[in-house]
Amino acid sequence: MSSILFLGSGGARFVVARQLRASGGMWIRLGATQIHVDPGPGALVRALSHVPPCNPRELDAIVLSHKHLDHSGDVNVLIEAMTSGGFRRRGAMLAPADAFDDEPVVLPYARRFVERIERLEPSSGPYRVGGIEIFTSMRHRHAVQTHGLIFVHDAIRVAYLPCGRYFEELAADYARHHPDVLIVNVLRYHDQLNVDHFTWNDACRVVAEVRPKVAVFQHFGTTMLEASPPRLAAQVEDELGLRAIAVYDGFTLDLETELAAAAR
Ligand SMILES: [Zn+2]
Ligand SMILES: [Zn+2]
Repeated sequence: MSSILFLGSGGARFVVARQLRASGGMWIRLGATQIHVDPGPGALVRALSHVPPCNPRELDAIVLSHKHLDHSGDVNVLIEAMTSGGFRRRGAMLAPADAFDDEPVVLPYARRFVERIERLEPSSGPYRVGGIEIFTSMRHRHAVQTHGLIFVHDAIRVAYLPCGRYFEELAADYARHHPDVLIVNVLRYHDQLNVDHFTWNDACRVVAEVRPKVAVFQHFGTTMLEASPPRLAAQVEDELGLRAIAVYDGFTLDLETELAAAAR
């Protein structure tokens, strides 16, 4: 069974600091391979307290889209959990180079616990983890090195578009991977702030161009939460004729079921 468990659906400093929505990242299972993506603050607690619990000792890798704390706060504690407190050297740690080299968030002592460190480059791959191939998108426009991640296993292709500013070439870059599922981080509903994050409008533009079978929205800031993400997702579903889902904390996306339903 292949699935994505969302251990959090919140993003941005305000929502994360108050934990208005959790920030645990995504636990991806594709076939027999398990990967934790973007373990923000609370990732380990959320994983262990989920019903049924996720077992970090079964993780094959931890992957960061970028090193901002809402995506990496729990990365070191999760490395320890994956490696039985550092006593069993195993697993892989994949992240952009600046997560290791420049004001590193992956601490040098914890790196020794994993079997493999991989510095992700933009527009590259496949990076192999168990039965999954990971490709990266072009570099996002964000304050630190940031790339999207495309996970491929058998016939399933899942793309994750993390934080960054909208720009023209971005949608085409994701479209060339033909994802079945596109997960988009959308922080802001609609405002004039000139910051490096998607608004709801930006997210809809990209989904309309990429046309996945299933569009998934998450990483909500305050203005998105106020605008009711489920209502907005329902509108997209009607307008674009594809399945659209607004994530809540603890939501599981069953990939086989959703993709079979979308094919009908
Ligand atoms: Zn973020
Ligand atoms: Zn960020």
